[in-house]
Amino acid sequence: MSRSDPQGEFPQPDDVENASVLAATSTSNEELIASEYDGRNSLRKDSSSDTIKPRFNPEDNLACITLDLENDWYFDESGYDHLTFEYIDDYIELIQELDIPVTFFVVGRTLEQFPDVIDTLDAELDCEFHLHSYQHDTSKDYDFRTEVRRGIDAFENHFGHRPIGYRAPQGNIEPHEFEILKNEGFAFDSSIFPSYRPGVYSNLDKPLTPYRPKGTNELLEIPLGATPRTRIPLSHSYLKLIGWPFQSYLRRASLPPLVVYNTHLQDLYRTDSHEKLDQLKGFLFKRNMDRSEELFRWSVSLLRDRGYSFGTMTEAYEAYKESSGIELAYDESDVGSRATMGEAEVDAKNGSEPLHSKESGNI
Ligand SMILES: [Zn+2]
Repeated sequence: MSRSDPQGEFPQPDDVENASVLAATSTSNEELIASEYDGRNSLRKDSSSDTIKPRFNPEDNLACITLDLENDWYFDESGYDHLTFEYIDDYIELIQELDIPVTFFVVGRTLEQFPDVIDTLDAELDCEFHLHSYQHDTSKDYDFRTEVRRGIDAFENHFGHRPIGYRAPQGNIEPHEFEILKNEGFAFDSSIFPSYRPGVYSNLDKPLTPYRPKGTNELLEIPLGATPRTRIPLSHSYLKLIGWPFQSYLRRASLPPLVVYNTHLQDLYRTDSHEKLDQLKGFLFKRNMDRSEELFRWSVSLLRDRGYSFGTMTEAYEAYKESSGIELAYDESDVGSRATMGEAEVDAKNGSEPLHSKESGNI
């Protein structure tokens, strides 16, 4: 089986277009931006109800820096497997200097192949680990439950306990898979990009804050960060791709009270794997590579300046797990029930089921 598909968590060609639109409009839509994330105000307002008791104080903004610890792009290809691991010491130095906790979502096979690297990260950093599938196969030509169980086994063999958090490769998770995750003992999932990517997913109707996916009343979905209304993923690959227009925008855009900012080692460190990408992928993934570390420092500073404290995904889960109410009983089929939804989501309601394509990992 070929596993040479690039990870789909990365930007797509359409995003370049989006970036242009963003650059053109970022000075004119502040009021639109300002109004949605008043999801916080909704929380505050709703907290007066006996049935909604958010533990997460609207003033306590939390940022979780996550890293998907995985093969670069070319699993099973001699000479190109996990090349970014050459930079582990640089990464540790960077995170120590920034003094932030990191949450790793680690691929099962990566755990099996590089146990020493995982142990080094664990020993050197304020960090925690969750599961990022077993083999990072973006084709979905496999049984999900089997894949998850293999991942759990790899995780448990290494850490001596089962993972409580899951992230699907390229955010590609089907509605019925949430229940499987719950049944396999996961407390939370963090796969959903509440954004839109043609042919991959359409999650504009999904909340920007944690919610219970339809069909489960236990598993908590902690979505990846995205900007309110404009729904641009708050991830390092997008910041790298879009560059200064996104930086300019983020300085004043309203942000969700919980920001899950995702990174990859291949976002930060250039290796021979980057040179093996074709022209288009190379453009997307190598853009601003020379200032990637600087951009990452900038993101951390921005979040700090904007009043975020940094925590782990488990801390985010703890903050939200006992919450109940409209946001967390979110019904994908019932627009009217969404207390925190702005009109953009309502407008985007049509055809909102996630789209999944076997080719979605390819660009
Ligand atoms: Zn991944």
